[in-house]
Amino acid sequence: MIENNNIEEIKFLADRMLGKLVKWLRVLGYDTSYPSFDNGLSLILIARQEGRILLTRDANLIKRRNICDFLFVKGDHWEEQLAGIIKGLKLKIDLNSKIFSRCSLCNTPTKDVDKKEVKNFVPSYVFSTQNRFVYCPSCKKYYWRGTHWKRMTQKIQKLFLNESGNDS
Ligand SMILES: [Zn+2]
Repeated sequence: MIENNNIEEIKFLADRMLGKLVKWLRVLGYDTSYPSFDNGLSLILIARQEGRILLTRDANLIKRRNICDFLFVKGDHWEEQLAGIIKGLKLKIDLNSKIFSRCSLCNTPTKDVDKKEVKNFVPSYVFSTQNRFVYCPSCKKYYWRGTHWKRMTQKIQKLFLNESGNDS
């Protein structure tokens, strides 16, 4: 098993069945590759080369011995899958500095940008109501702490940070 809860070091590679999970891992700041192909052997090789933990729903794939670091992902829904990963790897969720530190579309680390730089690139109501902006240099997209951001944060808090809540 994998003993590592340092978010700076832990990296994932997900198979084609895990698109929604990939998005959320990136939102939480985890470096998560999501190749467009679905060849088990290639996935294993890349995971080894890049020091990534392979996340897979393919029970046949992990039957091979000593393939690479991997985690068999249980459940059909991303909430269940993410909960399993957080528990299995004892990941810590950092809602302050790590959340939205990566682009959920392409995995590139986002950059903090000054409010005055974004004036011409975001809707004026956004500019007048938001103060913190980040930029994905790869997608050339700006993100801000709007309602979408807030909803996602609330969802994570509700699902994973409420220890006293129910387990359903
Ligand atoms: Zn991007």
